[in-house]
This record gives sequence, structure tokens and C-alpha cells, in this order.
Amino acid sequence: MDCRIALPVIQDAGIRTPADHKEKCAVFGVWGDAHGARLAYLGLYAQQHRGQESSGIAVSDGAVLHAHTGMGLVPEVFDAETLEKIDVKGGRGAIGHNRYSTAGGSVSCNAQPLLESYIGGQVAVSHNGNLINCTALRRRFEEAGHLFHTTSDTEVIVHLLASPAQQKSPDPLMATLRHLQGAFSLVFLFPDRIEAARDPWGWRPLSIGRLPRGQFVVASETVALDVIGARFVRDVLPGEIVTISDRGLESRRFAEVAERTALCAFEHVYFAHPASNVFGQNVELAREKMGEALSREAPPPKSVDFIVPMPDSGRSAALGFARACGVQYREAIVPNRYVGRTFIKPTQTERTAAVRLKLNIIDELVRGKRLLIVDDSIVRGTTTKAKMDQLRAAGAKEIHLRISCPPIRNPCYFGVDFAERSQLIATGKTVDQIREYLGVDSLHYLSLEGLLSCMNEPARNYCTACWSGEYRLDPDHPEGEYVIEPEQMKMFG
Ligand code: SF4
Repeated sequence: MDCRIALPVIQDAGIRTPADHKEKCAVFGVWGDAHGARLAYLGLYAQQHRGQESSGIAVSDGAVLHAHTGMGLVPEVFDAETLEKIDVKGGRGAIGHNRYSTAGGSVSCNAQPLLESYIGGQVAVSHNGNLINCTALRRRFEEAGHLFHTTSDTEVIVHLLASPAQQKSPDPLMATLRHLQGAFSLVFLFPDRIEAARDPWGWRPLSIGRLPRGQFVVASETVALDVIGARFVRDVLPGEIVTISDRGLESRRFAEVAERTALCAFEHVYFAHPASNVFGQNVELAREKMGEALSREAPPPKSVDFIVPMPDSGRSAALGFARACGVQYREAIVPNRYVGRTFIKPTQTERTAAVRLKLNIIDELVRGKRLLIVDDSIVRGTTTKAKMDQLRAAGAKEIHLRISCPPIRNPCYFGVDFAERSQLIATGKTVDQIREYLGVDSLHYLSLEGLLSCMNEPARNYCTACWSGEYRLDPDHPEGEYVIEPEQMKMFG
């Protein structure tokens, strides 16, 4: 993840690509398999949806670490030859990372795993999340003369680990993690082991699996475990460090679980793969429940012909919605899976073409029809408006829009960079004003209570800040046990 440094923004052409929901990453780790790099490759491939900007794998041969990282999708970064090269250097363990950066942070030096040498030896790190005290930590280090070669907050973690104060500690990693504030699911590779840790609030997922021959695996999402034939064991607990080595799996705590965890509810709404179980709940089933709840809260007008999902992430909620209200479900919008990211186009004609290239409308299911469209969320609104305009242009008679989460009115500081508050369509606008802007006949969002009623855990254990504005940690004033206190400043010397 990036420290919050102002850099130019790359705009999307209006199609909701990860550019609207930035800062989701995938981590992976496996110990004790002679072909760990190949498993990491598959584990990253399975988690491609969490990050498409860059990818990387670091391996250990038991004494030395090697890494290969690059910009692009997993199969672009690793062809057969590259994978073979890194695989033969491994043999003990491997970790991997897929990254989707904020704009400007999208440079090759920020690709992970970050491989560094320090007084304790070598370490490689993969990080999913966002540290809210990164800027303060980094400034202290820079004032003490430390040089950084990335803009990633992950590098701050390595500087902390390498600091004399942490190295003098009986458990340098534990001492390091206690200074981090914010969201982090981390996987460290040392020559003799993997250490995986999750912040005390549990913002981002991190699961443990076991291969048929007994080797342990960690991954952001269980879909990666399924792909490599690993059985789900359990989640890494908030505040826990799990060590995977030749001794098997060991656990210790660097912090107690926060009184109220802050599991990211947006993982279930949008991020995670439908086949994954996140925070102990299957994502597809959770989304279908959201659709059912939305259908109860905002039933379709009687005249509606079809319930239509906005592909791909609106599909599960649309299924639940259609099942609950009994109206026919039709896939009238077909995504072109072979179109990559679309960048800003200089003319409106090109922008419109880019939208049409990505989503094809089935004319016969749209022309003259009254449609109820189900989508998972609206961020800036430009993407949704482009889609609604496309449906109108295709002859839809009525468009009723249902969104399977509440209006997003606040930025996220814990691993997702939607946009600044001023760029969010719902900030300072009523639902009716948004409806008017989008040009639809009706618009309803799922209520926060409705959303939380679809979750397995008690409502108090989820982060809902992007909807409710209630931040579990104040991003502007990090405080508490995990902040650097004045007497601890000496560690920067
Ligand atoms: S603010 Fe929203 S996206 Fe960010 S961690 Fe909380 S629920 Fe997830």
C-alpha cells in the first residue's frame, strides 16, 4: 500500500474497473514444498481479482532469498521461463503478492514482495492493508537519515524491523508489529520460515490451509487454497502471528484482539471472490442474502419485466433479489472478459466506445423493457451513469436501480482507496439527487442494518466507516498502544 503522497491520478474511462475500488491486494505463502514458487503462482492467479497492477514471488532455498516482481497480471509477470528460474531457486518456502496501487504508486519499485537485507539477515514482505501511522513513522525515519526507495508503507515496516530497538527485543517481529496502526495482513519470508500476521482489528482476511502432504499455506482468500488443493484450517486471528517452518505451525500473539474487531464489510459486498469464505462466511451466499434483503426493503414496481445483474459483482445480489421477489432474472448485459483496463480517452466518442467495448447489451432483452438493475455499489457515479446511459440508448423503457450496500459517503483509510470524499457521488447528496444524476426511474440502496443482518458476525465487529462515517481508528489522529510514544523515539536514532 502507498503512503498518502499526492501524485497524478489516472482516470478510468467510465467503466468500473479496479480504478474505482483501489488498494486491494492479495498475499500468499507456503512453506516446505519443493515447488513453492509454482504454488505461489497458482495462489496468486486465483487471487488476481484483488490486484492487477503488479505481481511478485519471493522464494527461500533455506539460506538465501530470491525474488521476481513485475508490473502486470500474474501470467504477464511470470512466463514459463521466469517461473522455472524462480522455482529452482526456492525449495523451502515461497510468498507472493498481487498489488493494485493507488494512482501514482503504480511503479515497479513498489511491486511486492519487498525483498530487503538488514542486520538480521534477509526478509521479504507481502502486505494487504493500509497503515494510518505510516506517514508519521516514515517522517521519523527520514529525519533520522534513513533512505527509502519505494513509496510503499510496507518499506516502513522493514525499517522498523531493522531498527536497533526492535533488534534488541527478544521478539523483533512482535515489537515491530506493535508499532503499526491500521489495517495489515502481512506475510514475511525469512530464509528459515514464514511469519504471517493480522492486525488486532482484523480488517483484511488471512486464512491458513494445509496441503495433502501436510505443508501449511496462508492466503488472503480461501479460493487460493482451493485452487492448490489445500484444505482450510482456520483464519489467522486478529493480533496473532503464525510461524510456518520445518517445525510445522506455531502461534503467538503480539496484541489482544481489539474489543470490537473491524472486519471490512466491503469484502463481502464487492472485493472478495464469490467462492471464498471470508471471515467465516461464504461470499456468494452473503451477497445473495444482501439481494434478498434489498428486495424486501425496496421491492420492484409491479410492471418490471426482468431483474438484471450488473456484471460481474452485482450478479449474486441480483440472484437473491430475483429469488425473493419472484421476477424473472435475465443477464441482459454481457461483459467482454478480454478487455483490459481502459484509460482516459481524449474524446467522448472514444470514451463511449470504451464503455461499449467492455459491456455488451442484449438488445432483445432491453429494448422497450422495464428493467430492475442490481449492482453492488456506486462510488464516483460516473461509471454507473455511463452504464445507465448505455441501457437508455439501447431502448430501455424504465430503469430501476437497486444497490446492495448503503451510499458510500466517506473515504476508506484501511486498505481501500475509493476516492476523496468530494469525489464520492453520495457525499452531500440525497438519494433522489443521485437518482436524478444517474437518470434512472427509481433508486434504492440497501440499509446498513439490512447489510449487517446478512453477516455472520455480530454487527459491532464489522467496519462500516465508508457508509456510516464511524471510523474505528481516527485516521488523522492515530493514538493508543500502537503509536510511537516519545520515549520510544530513540529507536529511530
Ligand atoms: S471503510 Fe469501508 S472499505 Fe474501508 S475497511 Fe471499512 S468497510 Fe471496508
